[in-house]
Amino acid sequence: MQEHVVSTEKQTHGFQAEVSRLLHLMIHSLYSNREIFLRELISNASDACDKLRFSSLDNPALLEAAGELGITIQLDNESGTLSITDNGIGMDETEVIDNLGTIARSGTEKFLASLSGDQKKDSQLIGQFGVGFYSAFIVADKVAVESRKAGTEAAAGVRWESDGQGEFTVETVARDQPGTSVILHLRDDAKEFLDPFKLRQVVNQYSDHVAFPIRLIVPADGDEAATEETLNSATALWQRPRSEVSDEEYQNFYKHISHDFQDALTWSHNKVEGKLEYTSLLYVPARAPFDIYHRDASRGLKLYVQRVFIMDEAEQFLPQYLRFIKGVVDAPNLPLNVSRELLQDYGPVKKIRAALTKRVLQMLKKLGNDDEQYLSFWSQFGQVLKEGIGEDPDNRETIAGLLRFASSVQDEDLASLDEYLDRKPAEQDKIYYLLADTASAARQSPHLEVFRKKGIEVLLLSDPVDEWMISYLDSYKDVKLVNAARGELDLDELNDTDQDSPLVARLKSSLAAEVETVRATQRLVDSPSCLVLAKDELGPQMRRMLEAAGQPVPENKPVLEVNLDHDLLKALDSVEEGDKFNDLAALLLDQAMLAEGQLPKDPAATARRMHQMLVNAVNN
Ligand code: ADP
Ligand code: MG
Repeated sequence: MQEHVVSTEKQTHGFQAEVSRLLHLMIHSLYSNREIFLRELISNASDACDKLRFSSLDNPALLEAAGELGITIQLDNESGTLSITDNGIGMDETEVIDNLGTIARSGTEKFLASLSGDQKKDSQLIGQFGVGFYSAFIVADKVAVESRKAGTEAAAGVRWESDGQGEFTVETVARDQPGTSVILHLRDDAKEFLDPFKLRQVVNQYSDHVAFPIRLIVPADGDEAATEETLNSATALWQRPRSEVSDEEYQNFYKHISHDFQDALTWSHNKVEGKLEYTSLLYVPARAPFDIYHRDASRGLKLYVQRVFIMDEAEQFLPQYLRFIKGVVDAPNLPLNVSRELLQDYGPVKKIRAALTKRVLQMLKKLGNDDEQYLSFWSQFGQVLKEGIGEDPDNRETIAGLLRFASSVQDEDLASLDEYLDRKPAEQDKIYYLLADTASAARQSPHLEVFRKKGIEVLLLSDPVDEWMISYLDSYKDVKLVNAARGELDLDELNDTDQDSPLVARLKSSLAAEVETVRATQRLVDSPSCLVLAKDELGPQMRRMLEAAGQPVPENKPVLEVNLDHDLLKALDSVEEGDKFNDLAALLLDQAMLAEGQLPKDPAATARRMHQMLVNAVNN
């Protein structure tokens, strides 16, 4: 038995300010979808049963004392109350004050900020942000919670009560059974939740997959005797054969474990037997959570061992770049007392992780057969998936096959590498791509001119991670990937340009301080000049990433390529050495930088030169 410091008198506490705001909001504006309160309270009761079962691994007496774990809904017409009782882990006084007076997760501000004013949508956000308990106040004007922590004595019970108006009270009470009861004094307009029919319907809709029995007790009324019935099937859904689980059940279970209110896009349910036995049920959500890029965002699977819940957010079962996958893994041969630390380098876990990773990639590949669904997936998680190209060399080729790119030969549709390979002429032995800051900058890039002329497709990459990602992707299906703006191009007969032109030599000496070199090119058709990165030079995206991270960025000088067939270059040829020639040469370089989405080194000087040119042009 645990020591418990008994506070004899009733104490009054104020809610944390954020809780008060939240309660105000729940009470005054979230009533159109209000039956979700039941889902939230049942979900808490189910969590409490899971926790008790887990604690009993170390202390079997806890489970013996509790008996069969379950949840009871009891209604009382006379007092107008509805209570939800569990025989789970329970709370002591400190826990009651902490858990039901403050909001632990950092998500509250985000929750309040993401409210749209659309009640239906907003009420569905509640579960996602870890504030489910407070939804009791949507239907109740007074809520009491009586709890006793498993393993403490009857006298150590605690009673919490509040009308949701800024304060709550806490006092010590005697309580026969460990576990928790939440007692709702229903508002006058919420009395429909005393109707057994309504309760059955709500439990069926939202909580059928809960793995503990949910019982409804209806008291005797006049001639009618009291009844007790079990409302749900109460089996671990992932242990049932696939053929016996309906899509709707899969979707409901998804919502239960993810706290998402939308259907999942797809899922994969598998049982693997043999030495490395496990069952997995993995879902691809339809939408990315608000915190997918936060370091401390919740990720990972729910881990069960022989149906006993072990932990949430077991992140060792999938790599970081698949952190958006939700689901359950039940590995019956893991030790029941497995800890996060142990999971880290436990051989069998690594094997399961490798298998689950392949499973997810397969599931995504299959999703790729449906363009509409896949694009919706890609728009939400494509950026995250790209991290895998760098992170997971073993599966690089498979992940590469899942990538989608804008393309120079399509206006809107995205292309996969396989489509590119299918389309390209047999004699083309490279996959060309171009990096730019935005999709439209890529489309306008002077580098594309010669590719367009020759009818060669170029993939257009404009996500911030693209340059980093593509540096890990040398080839796909043995075809080299080549940056269209890097190094010298060898598009067959392209190299017969006149590198001995005196104009090129003059430009080289005029711009010697700014550029590595100047060379004549056939890369360009309509533009006079462009910048080309040397083969191993950092590109602008990587430079900015390093700069933003406070890393030293090596100086680099670009190569300026010029189009000797362009009128401007022809005109320049006849300008004598001197200030005018130098100004024009500098402008040639500046506009090449602008076309890349970069600022010229000295924008003020560029502006001055342009003014001068314009004045000359107007005066002529
Ligand atoms: P969440 O369930 O996302 O943590 P809630 O607002 O639903 O957020 O619940 C807050 C906390 O209150 C829970 O994390 C849990 O610690 C505690 N709690 C709520 N209901 C119960 C219960 N029936 N038994 C034990 N603890 C509970
Ligand atoms: Mg909850």
